[in-house]
Amino acid sequence: MRELNIKIVWMYHDIMDLYGDKGNMMVLKRRCEERGIGITIDTCGIGETCDLSTYDLIFLGGGADREQMMLIDDLLSRKENIQKAMDTGSFFFLVCGGYQLFGQYYIAADGSKIKGLQFFDYYTDTGKDGMRCIGNIVIECNLDGNKIIAVGFENHGGQTYNVKHPLGKVIKGYGNSFNEKMEGFYNGQVFGTYLHGPLLPKNPKIADFMIVKALQKQHPDYRLQDLEPLNDQLEEKARRILFKRWGLSDTN
Ligand code: GLN
Repeated sequence: MRELNIKIVWMYHDIMDLYGDKGNMMVLKRRCEERGIGITIDTCGIGETCDLSTYDLIFLGGGADREQMMLIDDLLSRKENIQKAMDTGSFFFLVCGGYQLFGQYYIAADGSKIKGLQFFDYYTDTGKDGMRCIGNIVIECNLDGNKIIAVGFENHGGQTYNVKHPLGKVIKGYGNSFNEKMEGFYNGQVFGTYLHGPLLPKNPKIADFMIVKALQKQHPDYRLQDLEPLNDQLEEKARRILFKRWGLSDTN
């Protein structure tokens, strides 16, 4: 059996951790450990030296406008290094405030414009009259041909438009904006979503998908079928209860 290791970096861990985003890291750790896959999770805060391209998975969670303003200069100063990470096959997992900052710009609730990294065409405007998309959300995503129903929680004022490659269709909730019924961004390497909750404990299939994407940086031939299955009965039961509560058919 070959030895497998994943290196993760959680950017701005101390300020970008809304609605339990940290739980995403805990789930990846646990699901790797249970399979004997080595996992290292480092953090990278404002002003810290860090070569992001040496990581298999880069995680940036959600944050309030204030935190997004605090980190933006630091994030923009890392643009070249982030590009290098993209070019060398790192996988990106971005939640809400983090997702917004990879686009063209974000207009905060007070009207100030925060320049984004501009890797993608999407941009985020503020909600009309301070309105926010808040509540439980269910989406149907297409991850490299795998249809997965994701469950989460959203709370954002930002309305993200011009998303060329949405992560999925909204079944319940809002997603990128009030009316478009599309959620997130996914281009095969960058996974941006409004789903907090945190995302991965409620969606173990997505956690495994990300583990595989991270492994593929070192082992391009590694496939989802190569991953040892885990017992997800409890997670599946929790999902069934949620679907029932929301009047949705069993979409596991
Ligand atoms: N501050 C951003 C907004 O309100 C992002 C919020 C978040 O990360 N949940 O749209």
